[in-house]
Amino acid sequence: YESLTVGELGKKLGREPSEIIKKLFMLGVMATINQELDKDAIELICADYGVEVEEEIRIDVTDLEIYFEEPEEVQGVPTERPPVVTIMGHVDHGKTTLLDSIRDTKVTQGEAGGITQHIGAYQIEVEGKQITFLDTPGHAAFTTMRARGAKVTDITILVVAADDGVMPQTIEAINHAKAAEVPIIVAVNKMDKPSANPDRVMQELTEHGLLSEAWGGDTIFVPISALTRDGIDQLLEMVLLVSEVAELKASKDIRAKGTVIEAQLDRGRGSVATLLVQDGTLRVGDPIVVGNTFGKVRAMINDIGRRVKEAGPSTPVEITGLNGVPQAGDRFVVFEDEKKARQIAESRAGDALVEQRGENTRVTLDNLFDQM
Ligand code: GDP
Ligand code: MG
Repeated sequence: YESLTVGELGKKLGREPSEIIKKLFMLGVMATINQELDKDAIELICADYGVEVEEEIRIDVTDLEIYFEEPEEVQGVPTERPPVVTIMGHVDHGKTTLLDSIRDTKVTQGEAGGITQHIGAYQIEVEGKQITFLDTPGHAAFTTMRARGAKVTDITILVVAADDGVMPQTIEAINHAKAAEVPIIVAVNKMDKPSANPDRVMQELTEHGLLSEAWGGDTIFVPISALTRDGIDQLLEMVLLVSEVAELKASKDIRAKGTVIEAQLDRGRGSVATLLVQDGTLRVGDPIVVGNTFGKVRAMINDIGRRVKEAGPSTPVEITGLNGVPQAGDRFVVFEDEKKARQIAESRAGDALVEQRGENTRVTLDNLFDQM
């Protein structure tokens, strides 16, 4: 439960509200029977009774997720879509260098003088196939996106420096990817260094469930140097291979939906949001609800700074035209007309406001501790 009053919680636990009130009192909180308790406070009380809290998602904000999952009248024809890749790994193991190398070698090819624009994601072409890279820091992307229930990544490249081996954030990255059920490709980086010891990396990773193909397992390891760019082509080939196995599909011919990668307020342009289209095709002029904001897509810019009129599945685009700044991980959904988009956005905004107000009177773990 996201929230319950003291009385409701008492009923669920088969206890008198006075007993719950007493327990809260022991925790330093003066509560009344109608006081709302948040999830953490509920869990705390339940733990005290040895009762496990069953997760139940309460839909109190007109949930975009409903529209996100809603089967369209026109289902569209699912076709192959590019993989969306995140690079993760321990600090200084070469994530940024790798992202830059991939981008430099592939994005600007055939785009003579093409301006590279930082929009939080980019797309490259390898052997006639597209690959989308999110260049938001992998860990942050995973945690904020996952906290909001959004799944955007199809494949994770785990960068491990061959001269340093498995480190705490390497393990953290493995856990994130496993929890999200995202396949991992290991890039054993800094192979140009004399002190590189790839065998040690392979050995250490077996302890975390990643057994290399060379040793009879099913995890792909690619030795690379992000600096000299050795091995990057092989790495990208492996990404395409894993992507093929995953059979990633989306429909181009339905209204677009997807997730916010990043967003900010720009002085000249107003609200600017990078969206990852996950299904359908997004077009200039589309009425759109993005998190708690809405509008009509005014302009779209792709990852090389070009104005585009439409963006298909797995494509990152920067849009303007929203009435506010959404948050990374927010869902977006295009609606058939502006009236419907406005209606949904307004009821979502209204609910969010009520939620915010409600929050102040609710007992949360934070203010519970404040009062202790
Ligand atoms: P991040 O923290 O994971 O993003 O790591 P960076 O990409 O910032 O790299 C950290 C340092 O390692 C930088 O000084 C890079 O130049 C260096 N580095 C990254 N990749 C390689 C590589 O393949 N070989 C060598 N020798 N140095 C590298
Ligand atoms: Mg970095």
